[in-house]
Amino acid sequence: MSYLMNTYARQSIGLSHGEGAWVWDTEGRKYLDALSGIAVNTLGHNHPKLVAALRDQVGQLIHSSNIYQVPLQEQLGERLATLSGMEKVFFCNSGLEANEAAIKLARLYGHNRGIESPEIVVYEKAFHGRSLATLSATGNRKVQKGFEPLVPNFVRVPMNDMAALEQIAAERPNVVAVFLETIQGEGGINLSRIEYLQALRALCDRKGWLLMLDEVQCGIGRTGRWFAHQWADIKPDVMPLAKGLGSGVPIGAVVASGIAAQTFQPGNHGTTFGGNPLAMRAGLTTLQTVEEDGLMENAVRQGQYIRTALAEGLRGVSALREIRGQGLMIGIELDRPCAELVKKGLERGVLINVTSDNVIRLLPPLVFGDDESRLLVETLVPMIREFVGA
Ligand SMILES: *Cc1c(COP(=O)(O)O)cnc(C)c1O
Repeated sequence: MSYLMNTYARQSIGLSHGEGAWVWDTEGRKYLDALSGIAVNTLGHNHPKLVAALRDQVGQLIHSSNIYQVPLQEQLGERLATLSGMEKVFFCNSGLEANEAAIKLARLYGHNRGIESPEIVVYEKAFHGRSLATLSATGNRKVQKGFEPLVPNFVRVPMNDMAALEQIAAERPNVVAVFLETIQGEGGINLSRIEYLQALRALCDRKGWLLMLDEVQCGIGRTGRWFAHQWADIKPDVMPLAKGLGSGVPIGAVVASGIAAQTFQPGNHGTTFGGNPLAMRAGLTTLQTVEEDGLMENAVRQGQYIRTALAEGLRGVSALREIRGQGLMIGIELDRPCAELVKKGLERGVLINVTSDNVIRLLPPLVFGDDESRLLVETLVPMIREFVGA
């Protein structure tokens, strides 16, 4: 009997503490964490720099209010603007809140241009969160079912299909924004092509549409650049962030540039907890540590090793469809549903995830070391081979 609402099909273990890329359950069993609480624990567990900064901040100020100046917001805002080459930031507490703010911003931008019923282009297999607006933008019926009526005025297209967008540009005068994950996470680690992102940037410029890139999962160094779109050498107008930004402390942010940075005015949007000093300190320390400890270079290195070693280990396995990803955001697609591999992973002492039914998802903390990458591959290869009977 549990006092918790039945919102999660939870695994049987509970975690008690962690150190680096390792966690222990309440029975004292040790696991290699290749999931980071779903791309959240950027610095792994019990990182000395994060622990010291949070301890210090807790003793100073945890919450003030957005009705006052919050100097740490200015500091983290400056860091995010500098790293992204963008201009202004709104702080909130989660991914869906960042996306909800982006959707509101796009609608207001439309109204300011005289478009009474603005439309936003969204994508098949997208995941943007579970509020009414963000689940409506999400491209997964399972997330939406039972919560109709959905928020209207989302127009859906397939990924990496420029012709579909050109058609929308020709036929729908009320479109104000294109909203996508630079790399889809929940949808199965699906990458936007670089040429596609570049063509999208050009189309948005031509049409006056906002390019809004949800980097809640793929941002904050995970792909080896601060933000995944930087691999395509473009800049979005709006970029929601969350998950890895606080290394475990709840935080969300919307970064904006150009006209999108000027759209919200007092009274348009707000939040009680957003931008609190504790979360800001977590964000600042995460960014500083990723830089100081060379964690983006590490993400590239470990990611390359893991993908190559998995491909070698799984050579000739016909049930393997594809190994893909960038940096430490990795998907292993099989030809069959494989959710039970999560439990088999627990039995073998690794925390992994399966998303989109048949994609094993790896999101290790950016502090993953050579030995940990090797152990992960040495555990997964025989486990996958046994599962598919190869
Ligand atoms: C997890 C996720 C969200 C939702 O974030 P929450 O903090 O759970 O609300 C939104 N977008 C993407 C791409 C995500 O991966």
